[in-house]
Amino acid sequence: MQRRAFLKTATVLGVGLISITSSTPVLASTAGAAEWHVVAKGETLSSIAAARGVAVEALKKWNGLVNDNIQTGQRLRLRAPWQHLKPEALAVSQLDAARWKHLIVHHSATPNGNATKFDAYHRRERRMENGLAYHFLIGNGTDSDDGEIEIGPRWTKQLHGGHVASLSYNENSLGICLIGNFEKQRPTGRQLAALIELLSHLKNDLLGGKPRLFLHREVKGEHTLCPGRNFPAKRIHRLFD
Ligand SMILES: [Zn+2]
Repeated sequence: MQRRAFLKTATVLGVGLISITSSTPVLASTAGAAEWHVVAKGETLSSIAAARGVAVEALKKWNGLVNDNIQTGQRLRLRAPWQHLKPEALAVSQLDAARWKHLIVHHSATPNGNATKFDAYHRRERRMENGLAYHFLIGNGTDSDDGEIEIGPRWTKQLHGGHVASLSYNENSLGICLIGNFEKQRPTGRQLAALIELLSHLKNDLLGGKPRLFLHREVKGEHTLCPGRNFPAKRIHRLFD
């Protein structure tokens, strides 16, 4: 039931990627009241934006509005939904919980990017028929929002990853990639907050606490610096080991 409600309103991008930036009734029912505004008679998007101290464009984005039309009684989200990831957003029809033994964290090693761009790149340059090699991407405010979690089809369809060189690790590991080159820059605070929420839901809520956390460079046989020297390895390990 929850899943149906989520999928019905999720933004499905051209390549079958689901972004959790769209408004969903499931999240609405579980979120705190202060995150929401119920439209009163005579209010407009701009009057609400001014009263609540947010931008009209942000209100439209957070609520999936394609124009400025709103209706009396409509509930509007006042914050970016990915700041409060709920486990329901990760629901899939057939979770293959026994399969996922590792959670592997990457950086993109690029200054920018998003799921659509990496999906195209992985199809074209890497010849991956399943596209986007990671299960999840976390944006840095360039091509997706800062801290935005994009959920790829390899998660929703419970497909193997293509994010490490090792075939056996790709078979049983979920790949999470933060956009950015953390050899040169640092992950943003919102990226790390989103990563912690995502890891927590995956490991503890969905997969029974079992999967082990690895940074890409810690996987046996992988010759890489990923996710870069500025990634806070100790802090993340302390939380999830
Ligand atoms: Zn990597």
